[in-house]
Amino acid sequence: MTVEKHWSMTPKDIKRIILVCKNCGATIGYKPQQWKYVPVKCSNCPADVGEMHPASADYTYLNVLRETLAKAIQNENPFFEVRFEFDDGEDDGEGT
Ligand SMILES: [Zn+2]
Repeated sequence: MTVEKHWSMTPKDIKRIILVCKNCGATIGYKPQQWKYVPVKCSNCPADVGEMHPASADYTYLNVLRETLAKAIQNENPFFEVRFEFDDGEDDGEGT
């Protein structure tokens, strides 16, 4: 018998959304209900690194994620409860 452990959570369980700069590794965290905008640049990187264009796919998906999380958390009576499932993070010894 194999026992597998999985964790699941709902959008309301999310404590912070963490954005990680791919250039320098700096992080910025937002509580989902307080995440009011998507930053277009990293405050830790020099100006010549540039910024994310608001019409880019990266910006669009982050903004959709931000708006969707806020709506999912505010919805007190959803038709479906959304759950995210995670492995327990332990190596099962079977490789990948
Ligand atoms: Zn950075």
